[in-house]
Amino acid sequence: MEVVKTNTDLKKVISNSGTGSIGFVPTMGALHMGHMSLLEHSIVENEITLCSIFVNPAQFNDPEDFKKYPLTIEDDLLKLKKAGCDIVYLPEVKDVFPNSISRNKIFDLGGLDLKAEGAFRPGHFQGVALVVDRLLQYVGSCKLYLGQKDIQQFQVIKYMIANTLHKVEPVMCSTVRESNGLAMSSRNKHLGSEEKAQLGIIHETLSWAAKNIFQKSTKDIIGDAKEKLLKCIYINDVEYFDILKLNDLEPVIDVSKSETLVICVALNTNKARLIDNILLFY
Ligand code: AMP
Repeated sequence: MEVVKTNTDLKKVISNSGTGSIGFVPTMGALHMGHMSLLEHSIVENEITLCSIFVNPAQFNDPEDFKKYPLTIEDDLLKLKKAGCDIVYLPEVKDVFPNSISRNKIFDLGGLDLKAEGAFRPGHFQGVALVVDRLLQYVGSCKLYLGQKDIQQFQVIKYMIANTLHKVEPVMCSTVRESNGLAMSSRNKHLGSEEKAQLGIIHETLSWAAKNIFQKSTKDIIGDAKEKLLKCIYINDVEYFDILKLNDLEPVIDVSKSETLVICVALNTNKARLIDNILLFY
């Protein structure tokens, strides 16, 4: 496994690796089984698998969240090596953003960046687009492995790729969960074991909403779901619990129409802000 710290070295290693397909897994580190499942998909489907670890300052709208983001580089590198990753890109901020973080470049994200998560984290998806666009310039043509856990991020990046010159195929991999249904997340490192056990209620509530989607109005489902979540002593507030059409992330009015829906939630515990979702295919 080659570990490179600059985009110059990254481009060199990629060009020396031949003409085989490249699978790219961008991460912010503190790797868990969710990240590793993306890596496994990439390894199966490509000749070369590349993983980046970069905590992107441009996507944090809360400086405190950025400061306390977990860093476990040594452990991450061991996991990647064991899994069979070929290349790791581990840059400093100045290698990704040599001219400081430019907020002048505004991406057309089709308005997908402003809904759900975007309404609570202003500028977050512009920051995500900024870093992914830059990383893809360095990596070039590839398959890009992303998790359903951040489904809005997937939709935003897919839109950005379709509207740029990147020769990249985005691939969505399903959410990996703890045995009680809690979605794995680097932010779970901030949670205690009893808290984690109780937070199984998030997936339980999403599943309940999916099961009852034809039985009640969307308004009632959303109201009841928030009530269920707020009964958990570890949940301070529910920022949103939305039932959306997957393609444009607009709220669903008539669930009987045959289109893919997504139920998304964001909430705060004392120690972390968590998001999760469930897809409903028709
Ligand atoms: P992050 O390091 O949080 O930026 O995540 C890097 C990638 O891993 C993103 O594409 C995430 O959607 C994906 N990911 C994070 N958690 C999970 C999970 N529990 N299951 C599957 N993919 C995940």
